[in-house]
Amino acid sequence: MTDSNDTVFGRILRGEIPCDQVYADEYCLAFRDLTPQAPLHVLVIPREHLISLGQAEQRHGELLGHLLLVAAKVARQEGFDSFRTVINTGAEAGQTVFHLHLHVLGGRSLGWPPG
Ligand code: 5GP
Repeated sequence: MTDSNDTVFGRILRGEIPCDQVYADEYCLAFRDLTPQAPLHVLVIPREHLISLGQAEQRHGELLGHLLLVAAKVARQEGFDSFRTVINTGAEAGQTVFHLHLHVLGGRSLGWPPG
């Protein structure tokens, strides 16, 4: 099978590089960010290689809902009932890894608007 997902998250999904996993199911994986920006900083990624939210189609609706529910589950599991979810879409918005991911941040006061 050809897998063109040569992003770092593709490599994590294939087990080629390690991650500090906090949750996994058949649709997604959640693990701690390598460079945490808050005491809680987890990334939730789909197993399907979706480049960004900008590429999502109607058929991804259930998957996207699932990723949000997993974000909330992980935050709860980690002991946080206040948290922020962030999806950077495109380089100008700060996306550096081109495999859709939700950031789950918590454990400190977070400013608004974001930078
Ligand atoms: P983006 O900037 O695309 O929204 O977020 C990408 C995130 O992936 C960054 O917060 C970055 O720290 C994280 N990251 C990049 N490479 C790795 C890695 O190899 N392992 C983990 N756990 N996180 C990574």
